[in-house]
Amino acid sequence: MPANRRGFLKNAAAAAVPVAAAQAAQPSGELHHRLESAIGAMECVDTHEHFYPESVRLKQNPDLFLLASHYLFDDLVCAGMPEESRKILRDPGRPELERWRHFEPYWKSVRLTGYGQALRVAVENLYGITEINASTLPAINSAIRRANRPGLYDDVLQRRAKIRAVLLEPGWRASPLKPDRSYLRLSRQFDRYIMIRNRKEVQELEQATGVSITNLASLKQAVDRNFAESQEMGMVSIKTTLAYHRDLNFHRVDAADAERDLGVLLRGERETGVGRARFENRPFRNLEDHMLRYVVSLADAHNLPVQVHTGTFAGHWNYITNSNPAHLTQLFFDFSNVRFDLFHMSFPYMGELAAITKLFPHVYADFCWTWVLSPAAAQRAMREFIDTVPSNKILGFGGDYWFPELAYAHLLMARRHIAQVMAGLVQERLCTETEAVELARMILHDNAAKLYGV
Ligand SMILES: [Zn+2]
Repeated sequence: MPANRRGFLKNAAAAAVPVAAAQAAQPSGELHHRLESAIGAMECVDTHEHFYPESVRLKQNPDLFLLASHYLFDDLVCAGMPEESRKILRDPGRPELERWRHFEPYWKSVRLTGYGQALRVAVENLYGITEINASTLPAINSAIRRANRPGLYDDVLQRRAKIRAVLLEPGWRASPLKPDRSYLRLSRQFDRYIMIRNRKEVQELEQATGVSITNLASLKQAVDRNFAESQEMGMVSIKTTLAYHRDLNFHRVDAADAERDLGVLLRGERETGVGRARFENRPFRNLEDHMLRYVVSLADAHNLPVQVHTGTFAGHWNYITNSNPAHLTQLFFDFSNVRFDLFHMSFPYMGELAAITKLFPHVYADFCWTWVLSPAAAQRAMREFIDTVPSNKILGFGGDYWFPELAYAHLLMARRHIAQVMAGLVQERLCTETEAVELARMILHDNAAKLYGV
């Protein structure tokens, strides 16, 4: 057995529910192993990450609880963890075991969710520690800290994960930041030019761009400037996460109506609500609709794909229905030359996404975040997408993490689930083993490489 295959089998066994996975693999033994080996060795183009620059990450004094702070904390809080405990977990000045005592009661409820699985897969495969508990915590933390030195990103992402290119979305920043690695390619948000909540946010945009924003034309000038600056930094796509705040139905709105909203905003007569109030108090919808379409027209003019957050959300307290990809239909009609990459398999709207991807040649289905969001649902959806939509429209992986260790674990989980889907197809005699391997390569690498030109 070649070393890489042995490594992958170990990884596969470590990925969550190991007993169930091992049992499921029994009947078709060799086929599963061959596919896991082939798919485990493939290079990947990762459509979506949020990594910090490595220099920032190296200063973070990392430990298990820092890694857990991305996504897993959402599950811990949802399981009932009080705010006080969350603060203690985030305080590296507190004794390790005190923090563990606050973590453990809730960890028991989340260790089998996709986020919990990812943490376990990372700890086992990067540091060789098979269990997370009070007695292994010191060894886990010192292993995480030992690895926290220059070269961490190249080691985890390139050497171990075999990721050849990453679309990096560093979150909202007024000015774009050039990614610190050649394989990290920039995807930029312009949502703050679309969804401006108050006069203070107008001033922030003025400071970022040097454009005085007094009317709709100057607001567009400010976006143009930021867009051009982002292109100089090598931007390969744009991204929107507006579904976190409102529905995705962006109507055709005349400039005059958008201008009227902007006038009210600039005079300080009304403001968009914050927190939960944002869902009920949105006085500038015309401006938002108009500006979203303006930004998409820029993507059109520069031939850049548009990544859209669809489906459920990180965090808590949100409206799932706002994120239904069917809201975007008018936009697909009106921007028939723009390639749209719809994120997160639109969970739980996978059926809508499959139908949309089948109807519109310029719309793609992206499984970023999904193998940790709901691993079993992602596996079922992948099987359904393969026989519903043309397979060049399926983008199989984006880690969607702040930390490369967890992106690596996420990709191991994705490879294992995709291998299981492929084994099923071969067993059902829907394709040959060679075709299954080709299909997996398209889904993990070729389709994203082609869409983004990376
Ligand atoms: Zn994301």
